[in-house]
Amino acid sequence: MKILIDNGHGSDTKGKCSPDGKHREYQWARKFAERLVQHLRDLGYDAQRIVPEETDISIRERCQRVNAICAEVGSKNVLMVSIHNNAAGSDGNWHNARGWSVHVSLNASDRSKKLACRLVEAVEARGIKVRKYSPSEPFWAQNLGMCRDTNCPAVLTENLFQDSKEDVALLYDEACVNALIDAHATGIIQYINSL
Ligand SMILES: [Zn+2]
Repeated sequence: MKILIDNGHGSDTKGKCSPDGKHREYQWARKFAERLVQHLRDLGYDAQRIVPEETDISIRERCQRVNAICAEVGSKNVLMVSIHNNAAGSDGNWHNARGWSVHVSLNASDRSKKLACRLVEAVEARGIKVRKYSPSEPFWAQNLGMCRDTNCPAVLTENLFQDSKEDVALLYDEACVNALIDAHATGIIQYINSL
């Protein structure tokens, strides 16, 4: 199984930061993706990032990169997780919404939903607040290009809110970040083992 980790946005993407500007999503997501890939490799899995660049690479180009790998090794031997931070508003103010969530596309396959469920279980097991669509469907279905236009099981994780003071503090808490990395790896591995 080839595990592809996408980090959304680039240094040239407007917005996508905490109201005080100290946290920037593109930077956090890159660091997280890099550490997650290393952790998966340490555990013996074939993992790689699809956006090593610092700048914003279009969703179209990122999907093409994923689909080129799918064509090479077969879609059933690939999975993709896109790493993001959530935001409750775009007005530049702090908000109260908090927590972690996983998203799939409106046309999501059963495998994508399965991967999402394993991630929810792993994050919840580490005591991190999970925002669920419903108890039986813990993932959110949305029109997401990265998940819609890729040929393999694909999910997007929103790792806490970048416009919540409490959540941003957690994004720089080493124990919390380690728990999130471990949860992503565990969820991915549980999914692979269930196939
Ligand atoms: Zn994002």
